[in-house]
Amino acid sequence: MRSKIVAGNWKMNKTYGETKKFVNELKDAVKGLKLKNTRMIIAPPFTNLQKASKKTKDTRIEVAAQNMHQAESGAYTGEISASMIKSVHVKTVILGHSERREYFGETNELLAQKVDTALKNDLEIIFCFGEVLEDRKDENHFKVVEEQIRKALFHLTSDQWKKIILAYEPVWAIGTGETASPEQAQEMHAFIRELVAERYISDVSENVSILYGGSVKPANAKEIFSQEDVDGGLIGGAALNAEDFTALIKAI
Ligand code: PEP
Repeated sequence: MRSKIVAGNWKMNKTYGETKKFVNELKDAVKGLKLKNTRMIIAPPFTNLQKASKKTKDTRIEVAAQNMHQAESGAYTGEISASMIKSVHVKTVILGHSERREYFGETNELLAQKVDTALKNDLEIIFCFGEVLEDRKDENHFKVVEEQIRKALFHLTSDQWKKIILAYEPVWAIGTGETASPEQAQEMHAFIRELVAERYISDVSENVSILYGGSVKPANAKEIFSQEDVDGGLIGGAALNAEDFTALIKAI
């Protein structure tokens, strides 16, 4: 059975002190919640990963990194490697976020390399992809999403897919307040699951969690999360507040 997941991408937000405060609040808020098949993940900036990881030890709260370099180590000033992430007991990394693609020039080909390095280091991946507004207007959104997934992930074995979480994030809905309708989200998620089913054995497509991301808030979460092929959300803005984040966990 695939997991339900609520993951919060903090982006370049929260200092060390703010991270401690958030984690304390979240721990209190989720105490006693019955989370049968549901995972909660927070992705703080690199400087706060170790603290978040230590403070959430022995809880159901998991910690993820927001990015990593494709090389194992070397002369890459300012970059962070997979083994560094693992060394602070973090097991998951977000790759391919639209902001990394747009502002840092990350291509599908580069992301395929990052995926391989992450898996070699036994990290789980939340792999993000999604179309820009022009693609949707031109009705190219299925083609674009298919290419993003094929180029970065379809060289993997079925077994490696156990470490993959997909996150469909239409770029026009990220941080804009505009959300894909539940029907638009379901339509794309069903398309993605079918795409994976055509390439792999059905176990892979049935077990991969596909998250939706793009202006999800407590007010609209229930409707989106209740779609058949939507297994949770990757959340930006609403994940910065422990109360809102808890409401999203409850919504799932
Ligand atoms: C995101 O950046 O992944 C995201 C979904 O942001 P927001 O929830 O703020 O739209």
